[in-house]
Amino acid sequence: MIRRLFRRQKSRPLTEAELAHRLIDPGYACTCCGEVLNAAAGAVWPTAPFGWTNPPAPYPDDAFDTAGRDVLTENYARRGGDTLLRAYLPIPVQGTETQVFLGVWCSLKVGNHARFRSAQARGDADRMGDMFSWLYTQLPAMTGPLLTEGVLTPYSQGRLPLYWITAEKHPLYRAQQDGLTASEILALYRDMGCGDLVDHLIA
Ligand SMILES: [Zn+2]
Repeated sequence: MIRRLFRRQKSRPLTEAELAHRLIDPGYACTCCGEVLNAAAGAVWPTAPFGWTNPPAPYPDDAFDTAGRDVLTENYARRGGDTLLRAYLPIPVQGTETQVFLGVWCSLKVGNHARFRSAQARGDADRMGDMFSWLYTQLPAMTGPLLTEGVLTPYSQGRLPLYWITAEKHPLYRAQQDGLTASEILALYRDMGCGDLVDHLIA
């Protein structure tokens, strides 16, 4: 026990395997403050679609049709004629069998958006199959393209749909296919404004 404590106090860089473990284990607790970090899903969670500065506090989802022309709810948005929704963008963590999920905003055509909301409320959105969608979250935050083509894959039981980039020139296209190392994902988290989480993760 004493030896283990002594070893932990020595400062040395964490291995990729240890970083990956901390990243994907939903119960991993920070060594400095004990907070459970749950860094794999939704650490990146933009408050509103790209281009919407100072968004209002979101309404509940069922207010989408009644809350005005431009509206932001927990999972949906309508702005300037665009109908948008939240999704998870998965990226495999290299050296593991699992993924991290970035929260993103993306679009659906107005008819598909309405059908998706109904199906999502019923819990059978998976029957809709993949749909074309523009990505409305800039990835990486400073250098990524503003709008990117992709497909949205809905799931059953009201689970958040997944977003897959199809534009091969996008910097994260290959990342979604081949994965990133834990270090690369942490760098992306920092870029997306989650530096605080990363600091606890590597403490
Ligand atoms: Zn901490």
